[in-house]
Amino acid sequence: MKAASKKVALITGANKGIGFEVARQLGRNCCTVLVGARNPALGREAAAKLHDQGADARFLDLDVTRRETVEAAAQFIEKDFGKLDILVNNAGAVDPGDGPPSVANLAAVERVFQINFFGALSVAQVMLPLVRKSPAGRIVNVSSGLGSLAFNSDPNYIKSSYNWIGYCASKAAMNMLTVQLAYELRNTPIKVNSSAPGYTATDMNHNRGTQKVEQGAAETVGLSLLPADGPSGGFFSSAGPKPW
Ligand code: NAP
Repeated sequence: MKAASKKVALITGANKGIGFEVARQLGRNCCTVLVGARNPALGREAAAKLHDQGADARFLDLDVTRRETVEAAAQFIEKDFGKLDILVNNAGAVDPGDGPPSVANLAAVERVFQINFFGALSVAQVMLPLVRKSPAGRIVNVSSGLGSLAFNSDPNYIKSSYNWIGYCASKAAMNMLTVQLAYELRNTPIKVNSSAPGYTATDMNHNRGTQKVEQGAAETVGLSLLPADGPSGGFFSSAGPKPW
């Protein structure tokens, strides 16, 4: 086991979109970035691209729904770095079968939950012993404004038309993970927060998002690099705290 001098950051679903941009920005901030991806060819390509831009980036084969890949990733991190300073639970998905509660396809809702909630919980559980070995561990759950109960229950909420029970409920569940894990870790230096990227142009929304990935990644990067007096157990967008 080697002691890493640089901060070590694992970003799940980092082969493209917001995850790739978070990895790029953390790589620029002197972190070693572990590019988690379920497709090895795409993951290697992304890590090589970051490497070419000057980042210390390595591909990690990691499908958040396959516990054996998560455990193998943890063993690799333990062996090569001995700790994990930053965990970004970014991997996420939507499903065409998702929809309003009355008609959403149940299998589609379950698929979305497997990735967005159970995947994040599984990665957090497996990586936590390594995050505990960091002097200042940070866990960021990439959530969404669509997971906010307050916003979803506001008739004036601009996005209330996004009536997808699977996606919205999975992000609300992820927010519960943030709150409960932050409470469990309240007497440690580890901080756990949820980020809301905002509507960002990526494959997830066929690039219809109104922000660029640089903006969509910014809050997640900020929460990954929080100082010791930063918050824990919160939900933040780049505009500030978000209502649960
Ligand atoms: P994206 O471009 O579609 O990227 C999603 C990433 O997650 C891809 O790398 C994808 O890998 C990966 N992924 C999906 N299932 C996975 C699994 N089982 N294991 C490992 N990786 C998996 O979408 P994005 O917009 O960047 O989304 C990133 C995060 O931001 C998501 O959690 C999303 O819910 C959240 N978010 C996005 C927006 C937005 O407007 N874009 C707004 C709020 C929140 P593959 O390439 O293999 O599919």
